[in-house]
Amino acid sequence: MRVETRVAAAGEGIHDAAALLAAGGLVALPTETVYGLGANALDPVACAQIFEAKARPLSDPLIVHIPSIDWLDRLAIVPEAARRLAEKFWPGPLTLVLPRRAIVPDLVTAGQETVAIRMSSHPVFQAVLAAFGKPVAAPSANRFGRISPTCAEHVLAELGGRIPFVLDGGPCRHGIESTIVLVTGDGLHILRHGPVTEEELAAFGQVRGAVSGISAPGGLLSHYAPRTPMRIAAPVEQESRLLFPQQEGSRDGRPTAPAIGLLSWSSSGEGFAEVEHLSHKQDLREAASNLYGAMRRLDQAGLDGIVAEPVPETGLGAAIMERLRKAAAR
Ligand code: AMP
Ligand code: MG
Repeated sequence: MRVETRVAAAGEGIHDAAALLAAGGLVALPTETVYGLGANALDPVACAQIFEAKARPLSDPLIVHIPSIDWLDRLAIVPEAARRLAEKFWPGPLTLVLPRRAIVPDLVTAGQETVAIRMSSHPVFQAVLAAFGKPVAAPSANRFGRISPTCAEHVLAELGGRIPFVLDGGPCRHGIESTIVLVTGDGLHILRHGPVTEEELAAFGQVRGAVSGISAPGGLLSHYAPRTPMRIAAPVEQESRLLFPQQEGSRDGRPTAPAIGLLSWSSSGEGFAEVEHLSHKQDLREAASNLYGAMRRLDQAGLDGIVAEPVPETGLGAAIMERLRKAAAR
């Protein structure tokens, strides 16, 4: 069913957003990472609409955003290491996966015994949660598997006509999703790399590999993906077209070279049909905040293929490379 999607500026829209949440409705709203699609986290019927609007499988759990720290112990059992992480990084782009309490609906955890919790630092998000007064479940406000939205226009392109309300708070600061950490007795398991880096987390416990039986975005090979085929490679123009042999076209009976775009880290991109530079000064923070917008523009340029140049895999670079690998996986 098609619905009218209203967009409101952050200032005047906060009251309406909180009222919609209280009425069991959906609201798209800005966080410091990407735009989220929120519903009352304690109301499974409200949360069911998130899955519907995003066409998200019910096996993929939602992150619960809390209005204040006292909600942490009401929703989860909190080991000491998790408490220290919350003290250090909240409000901020860190999601903690912890043993759940019964108050959290099964739909939110996808039936798992853990719940993912976060406290956002975005002033607009915080204002809505303060007005609403309860936790909000909010995954990224995009169709399932696609590129996360980093501004209100992206949300409209993804979910316009499917959700009633978008709160426009301008572009997101980080531009990639929160770091997700599972805290267990033996250490910290990074389920998704993000703005809080492995190097920063190491001060709070032994950083270990993923654990089996825990679902995370890492469990899905393809995610955050443009529709245009994408490959990760050093950007040599002549070789780049060989990466997309199936895209060789023909015009007037003559073979034509495929049009290849470049998502550039440090190359000039000479010879490519389109170029998007992640950061002219090779700054990983700037690159992360530009990543999804640049991928979206390349995806809309009518290209046959996109080459993504690898970025250094330190700090935020680990999160960027994780996204690129998933975008390139088919
Ligand atoms: P999104 O907010 O759309 O970027 O997605 C949220 C992601 O958080 C999901 O894809 C899950 O993989 C992860 N997540 C949420 N809840 C849990 C949980 N209980 N255990 C592990 N991962 C979770
Ligand atoms: Mg998502």
